[in-house]
Amino acid sequence: MAQFIFITGGVVSSLGKGIASAALGALLQARGYSVRLRKLDPYLNVDPGTMSPIQHGEVFVTDDGAETDLDLGHYERFTGVPGMQSDNVTSGRIYKTILEKERRGDYLGATVQVIPHVTDAIKDFILADTEDLDFVLCEIGGTVGDIEALPFFEAIRQVSQQLPRHSTVFIHLTLVPFIPSAGELKTKPTQHSVKELRSIGIQPDILMCRCDREIPENELKKIARFCNVRDSAVIPALDVASIYDVPVAYHGEGLDRELLNAFGINNAPAPDLEKWERVSRRIDAPEGEVSVAVVGKYTELQDAYKSIMESFVHAGIANRVKVNIKWVDADDLSGNKGTDALRRVDAIMVPGGFGKRGSEGKIRAIQYAREQSIPYFGICFGMQMAVVEAARNLLGIKDAISTELDEKGAPLIGLMTEWMKGGELKKRGIDTALGGTMRLGAYDAVLKQGSRAAEIYGKDVISERHRHRYEVNMHYRKDLEKAGLVFSGVSPDGLLPEIVERTDHPWFVAVQFHPEFKSRPFDPHPLFASFIAAAIEQGRLV
Ligand code: GLN
Repeated sequence: MAQFIFITGGVVSSLGKGIASAALGALLQARGYSVRLRKLDPYLNVDPGTMSPIQHGEVFVTDDGAETDLDLGHYERFTGVPGMQSDNVTSGRIYKTILEKERRGDYLGATVQVIPHVTDAIKDFILADTEDLDFVLCEIGGTVGDIEALPFFEAIRQVSQQLPRHSTVFIHLTLVPFIPSAGELKTKPTQHSVKELRSIGIQPDILMCRCDREIPENELKKIARFCNVRDSAVIPALDVASIYDVPVAYHGEGLDRELLNAFGINNAPAPDLEKWERVSRRIDAPEGEVSVAVVGKYTELQDAYKSIMESFVHAGIANRVKVNIKWVDADDLSGNKGTDALRRVDAIMVPGGFGKRGSEGKIRAIQYAREQSIPYFGICFGMQMAVVEAARNLLGIKDAISTELDEKGAPLIGLMTEWMKGGELKKRGIDTALGGTMRLGAYDAVLKQGSRAAEIYGKDVISERHRHRYEVNMHYRKDLEKAGLVFSGVSPDGLLPEIVERTDHPWFVAVQFHPEFKSRPFDPHPLFASFIAAAIEQGRLV
């Protein structure tokens, strides 16, 4: 039977609970254990799919088509274990399930309540399909004390009482701030946070204390005493240069040893951290640098493009360079503002996006990359806009547009109304509700022999994750191909375009899917790796 690790946060949000959980998962894997990571989010949205990336960061998509919290991306990148719909739940999803059951009459007249019905549903989620695993790590979103998180805390408390002794461990992540005016580190916020946790019946077994500097021994001891944990269970979680340094750093502080002790496991195999040390070394000592302009509209919150940023780190590892991302607000390229923002970069990317704002600036960036022979990589919206750009400037279809942006004009990109998923026909209309209705998750694409795409992937059939509602209109395929924009990847039935590329350009590839969701530090995505190799070439030219 699996053993469960619950990770909660205190004091403030954004302490890096997701990375801490992912790193701990990696440390357990390094000792030969199997792990699965789950995220429980207390907010009321059914999933983050309809939330603005500026508020909540990127929406991470799994193979099975779930729109999930970006922490699932960290889990996958650190452990290589693909996430699933069943690894992320929100209060909204829990309540939706309960209310549907209530309407069906499944509760047979009972009064439906937070305890036991909501807490039972949360427990079912935690425990489902975990028989074959060694460890399940469950991260609770938000911070202790949040009203909406209470049922989740109650549920994990109950789980710890229901499972056999030594089957659950609670880890609490807190902040130890340095107060400049006092010249001191402060442990009081941690004490209060643990007090809050204990008041709802949870005694943490391990405390991880985020801090921007060394925490002196006496402060660590003080935390242990006031929070009722062992001295060895207060783990300093200090800032590190790269998130990929975290597993080795936490191991150095004794986190995995302490965790195994808490479970009463004393015969665990020694960890093999060689691959993590190798990744850290590569990141610490690049042999060169390249710069990539990422032209988007959520540039004020970089979490909005989390997986893309990480994919560039991985591609940098593959090419032994540091990739510097220059965030360019698409609006700064529209109208008569010119393309100055793109000068002196080695490559240009237009990532996924939604809606009209910024679209003209993105088209401008693509035109610039095409005309100046600068490597261009388009992802999803970045592919659609590449097609619009070619139609306008090479085919002379001046009103070329996506119907997402304008109902009038030549519909180079149109609403996708029918497609096949696993032998089943999916249908959508203009009035379909927005939540969870895009073409989501893993789909195969067949690559054209001899194309750059086929060469980069080294195979003819690929599987990549999707998240889009619109598609390139195949009626224009012939003309676009005559203009040099080749459809080098299509769905197996040949109906949906998946990749376009230019034959008359050093590196111009645009894809309808999101390769960034499948890149890992140990297994960089081939498209990103190849794009950065092209950026290095470009850097030599300028
Ligand atoms: N807005 C576009 C669509 O829905 C592109 C989506 C995306 O970039 N993820 O098709």
